[in-house]
Formats: sequence, structure tokens, C-alpha cells
Amino acid sequence: MSGSGAVRVAVAGSTGSIGTQTLDVLGTEPHAYELTALGAGGGHLDLLIAQARKHRPKIVAIADDRLDTVHRLTEALPGCEVRAGAQALASLAEDADVVVNGVVGFAGLSVTLATLEAGRRLALANKESLVAAGPVVQRARRTPGAEIIPVDSEHCAIHMCLRANDEPGRVARLVLTASGGPLRGRTRDELRNVSLEDALNHPTWSMGPKITVDSSTLMNKGLEVVEAHELFGAPAGDHGCGIGFDQIEVVVHPQSVVHSMVEFTDGATIAQLSMPDMRLPIGYALAHPDRLGTPFGPIDWTRLGRLDFEPPDLDAFGCLALAYQAGRAGETAPAWLNAANEVAVASFLDGKLPWGRIVDALTASMDRYDGGTADDVDAVIAADTRARAVAHQMIEGLIP
Ligand code: MG
Repeated sequence: MSGSGAVRVAVAGSTGSIGTQTLDVLGTEPHAYELTALGAGGGHLDLLIAQARKHRPKIVAIADDRLDTVHRLTEALPGCEVRAGAQALASLAEDADVVVNGVVGFAGLSVTLATLEAGRRLALANKESLVAAGPVVQRARRTPGAEIIPVDSEHCAIHMCLRANDEPGRVARLVLTASGGPLRGRTRDELRNVSLEDALNHPTWSMGPKITVDSSTLMNKGLEVVEAHELFGAPAGDHGCGIGFDQIEVVVHPQSVVHSMVEFTDGATIAQLSMPDMRLPIGYALAHPDRLGTPFGPIDWTRLGRLDFEPPDLDAFGCLALAYQAGRAGETAPAWLNAANEVAVASFLDGKLPWGRIVDALTASMDRYDGGTADDVDAVIAADTRARAVAHQMIEGLIP
């Protein structure tokens, strides 16, 4: 905490969907939170400059360290400390009580590790860092003062539900809800000709393109199963509630109002409900164990109507099973899958790899997984690099 008593917040990935919504949340509680730093990749420089002019953080960081970019930022923001380069975003933890990690993909790993190693709270939206580098992140999480509060809506929901019970050993299963994405209900046959527009047309959530494509393949849910295991799988009392992969289930819930559930050993299920609005989990991660005074996503029960639940179609959406396999294999298998997925999704977004071939690219890449151990961050980064090379090769053969 700073002298004023306000919680000092740094936002990594400030120009993305999570970042912009975090600034929105902070704006509703200006006395409780002080925005100390903004960080972004550098691809949306005008937005970053506009954010810095409005919120006046002490520090602005960009990953892009080309001289003209740094020069533009320095010129535009007099009096603001500009940091640039590969480690710039990771350096923000030193000057903050909470770091919101809204970076997209594996690139967010340095922010996750630096925040935990600095003994700070990590408000984690970047699930890929936790999924890919699980064993390494778990070690960093043991740093005194370090904690992870999930911003991913399902995991945030579970975090809330677990507070309903004082005895962490009494959890029977975690049930992650999935909207089913924009292609829910289509058969394998009907999924042969999915366009970019189809895949990006999410019915309930407005998110960035990478996660929206992941949602269309159910890979997002697959990554979230591994994420749930990392967050809550440790023995009861040691961050977790002792659940294994057999106790993490996925149910499709198209309305995205029930954000996830915890079933206890006596059969009782506790769920968290709200209208889909990421500002609620962002605010929860900032305020925990307190809550924001500003409501995001409250439910109008007179208009809510029905809540539906159905099993996921594992035949049409093969990515979910791949994620369970990688999660169970552990070590660098999730890093391998995540890297292959990032390459495949980028290729789909480039208009090269057909949607229906994403799962084939991932299956072929996982068949070539080399079984490396996740001893340290360098081992994880090396596995990520090897997996990307393999995925590029596999995709080459799948592009029509
Ligand atoms: Mg989620």
C-alpha cells in the first residue's frame, strides 16, 4: 500500500480487452486505487498514449523497443517514465501492490513470474502463462506475499464459491461452465466451412480475437481446465482444494450467467451468477477480500428467463480432450499444446489454416511432443520454441 492508503495498480496489456475494462473499473473507485503503471506490447500506441494522458500513471512500459516508438512515447508523455524492451512489462511489479496481467498468450509469462517473485498480488487474466509454465509458476507463487486472484470469469467464480466452505478438503468437483462459443450446436459436418466471421461472432462475451477463436474450438475451455487444476489442484490448505483432473468437469451453459460451480462432498453445489461482464471479476481481483462498491453485471431476475445446461460435444470439438491429455501429462506438455495452439490460431486469423484443421494441427503437434521436463523457466521457453517450430511444420501440410 502507498502512503495515501490507495492500492497501487499496474496494468500489463492495457490496450487489450482486459486492460481497457480494468481502467474502466479503476475509474469507478478513484480513491481506493491508484494507477501507477500502464504497459502494452506497442501495437496500439495511440491508445496507450491516450490512456496515459487520461490516467497519468508514473510509468508507461512497452515491449516494442524500436527507437521511433520509444521516441514517440517520450515526446507524447512528458514527465512520465518510459520503459521499453522485453522486460519492461515485467518490471512494473516493483512499483505496484497488484498487477493485472491482461497480456495475450505466452508473452505474458514474464509478467506473471515477475509479479509473484516480487511478492505481489497477480490479478491473472493471462491464463496461458499459468497453463504453459505451471510447475515454474507454482514455485514463484510460494514467494512470501505473492498470491494469484483469477480474473478469468470461471476461475474467479470458483474462487468465490470456495469461500462458502471453511473446510477446503470437502470439495467433490469443480464444474466449469462454457458458453459453447459461436459454433455451438453445429455437427462435425457443419463445421467444415467455418469462416473467420463465424468464429469471431461470440454470442455472449466481447473479447479479443485470440480468445474468441479459442472459444469457438473449445480450446479456451481446455486451457481453463488446466488453469483450474493449477489454481486449485494443490492439496487442501496449500492454495488448493486437492482436486485432480477427474474432478474438473465442463458443462455447456449458453447464457453465460452461471460462471462456474463447486460441488461439495455432501452433494451441495454453490454457483456464482451474474450477467457476463468481465469488470466484475477484474474488480473482485482488485478488491479481494473486500468487494467493489460498484455493481457490474447484476441480474434482473424478472427478465432473466431460463438457464440451460448440456454436455459438450466432444466429437465435434476435439480440442477439449487434447487439453485434458496435456494437463494429465504435465511437465511441458501443456506448454507444447499452448504454443501449437497460438501458432494455429494465428494462422487461422491470417486466413491460411481452415478452422476445421486447427484440431488436426494440434493433434499432429502433440503426437510429436518430446516429453521435456519443466525444470525452470528456460526449459519452458525452450519447449514453447520447439513446439512452435513443430506446429509451423504441421500447419504447412494442412493449408489447402
Ligand atoms: Mg474464461
